[in-house]
Amino acid sequence: MRTEMSTLALGIEVPTDLFIGGQWRAPASGRRIDVINPSNEEVLATVADASVEEAMQAVDAAAAAAPGWAATSPRARADILRRAYELMVRDADSLARLISLENGKALADARGEVAYAAEFFRWFAEEAVRINGDISIAPSGASRIIVQYQPVGIALLITPWNFPAAMATRKIGPALAAGCTCILKPATETPLTAYALANLLAEAGVPAGVVNVLTTSSAGKFANAILDDARVRKLSFTGSTEVGRVLLRKAADSVVNCSMELGGNAPFIVFDDASIDAAIEGAMLAKMRNGGEACTAANRIYVQRGIADEFSQRLAQRMGALTVGDGCLDTTQCGPLVNAGAVAKVASLVDDAVAKGARVLTGGERLDRNGYFYQPTVLVDVAPNADLLHEEIFGPVAPIVIFDDEDEVIALANATEYGLVAYVYTGDLARGLRVSERIESGMIALNRGIVSDPAAPFGGVKQSGLGREGAHHGLLEFSEAKYISTQW
Ligand code: NAP
Repeated sequence: MRTEMSTLALGIEVPTDLFIGGQWRAPASGRRIDVINPSNEEVLATVADASVEEAMQAVDAAAAAAPGWAATSPRARADILRRAYELMVRDADSLARLISLENGKALADARGEVAYAAEFFRWFAEEAVRINGDISIAPSGASRIIVQYQPVGIALLITPWNFPAAMATRKIGPALAAGCTCILKPATETPLTAYALANLLAEAGVPAGVVNVLTTSSAGKFANAILDDARVRKLSFTGSTEVGRVLLRKAADSVVNCSMELGGNAPFIVFDDASIDAAIEGAMLAKMRNGGEACTAANRIYVQRGIADEFSQRLAQRMGALTVGDGCLDTTQCGPLVNAGAVAKVASLVDDAVAKGARVLTGGERLDRNGYFYQPTVLVDVAPNADLLHEEIFGPVAPIVIFDDEDEVIALANATEYGLVAYVYTGDLARGLRVSERIESGMIALNRGIVSDPAAPFGGVKQSGLGREGAHHGLLEFSEAKYISTQW
């Protein structure tokens, strides 16, 4: 079958049809979805728009491949994942450019994402051969308890646009390592990276039907149809808390096993005994990685009164000096936001904060040019009821709030429905650990501006999610414990 390929700016070639059962298929309807370059608002490519029938064909393909893949030896699965890692390293440059083209992020961020994304294949290649169960004697002595791990079954993987490669590999890696087959539905804004990954996985030797990739303009109908099929036993979703709630309700109908990586509202806390130099570096990373479009982005910056002025001035100076521009240019440090809606949301959050008394130290405006640009912005004197302290900003805006003592800042940090990550800067390790224990979040970055690591369990508490990705935990999300009771 002919594969629809698009040759994008920069000479990158990507397939743009549906990837089902190891074949590229044009959508039966002929419908296609425009993919826009956020740096200039031009159409980059069009991708296939899958129907519900095509979703079901993907389930059929995943079901046909499932017994064979589950029976493949762990070493063989590991070798394929390792090869996928090597191919990502080989193609790192073009993948990074592709991510910058469709997502807009600065090339340096895109390169960082490709390296991070590839590591999930390497990590889960290593985990695939370590799916250990255990044996124990029942306390009564009456039986042996044997526990082994089996693949959970066909998995639906739904990913967001902000890390088009890493959110896909963070799910595909453990799914394949555990012996599951899957259907990946990437976000409509950034489908090209997912199709490039599908191509690369086929080259790595992933058998037909083990990974299927489909884009659709009807995410709800598509996901509902797949989740209604009793053969599908796993939903792994990364995206907003709002959509996560909808999917959890839907998954309840068939009691599908769910892993949910949802929204965040990360506090970034700087005590006055911290190194200001280190805290500024950490804040730049925690706030500006991906231009602020990260679930882990520092959303609320709390600074202790004694250093608040100096910290705010220095952060504003650094943020104001960033080069904003086309994500694909090597000189760019902050690319555009993903779409016009994202810019409108960021602008309205800043306007709301200013209307409630915030002062703009730098930025505070859209850029008057094509593309979805907003200036890196620092706000001080932010009122407690400003919306941006309570909602994900998802843009290059840093609101700073002054605090006086430890109990006060912990209460502020915890006053949110979210609980993904928190950042704490202090020169006193005991205080750092004490505060880390009291903050309600799945992850803490202590004197660091980043937590993401394929070898660590990534995930949130409260309404930031269920389950963990990465580490050995990520593999267990795609496994079921099988208990065998026996005696000999
Ligand atoms: P989103 O709107 O929730 O979309 C995420 C994915 O869900 C997309 O593929 C989307 O498809 C799909 N979707 C939308 N409605 C759906 C429905 N009714 N049924 C099934 N699928 C549906 O989130 P986003 O705007 O892409 O991403 C940003 C959010 O993701 C933020 O809240 C961020 O914090 C979160 N995030 C969390 C993590 C984490 O690890 N915790 C990591 C990254 C991002 P369409 O594109 O077709 O709408």
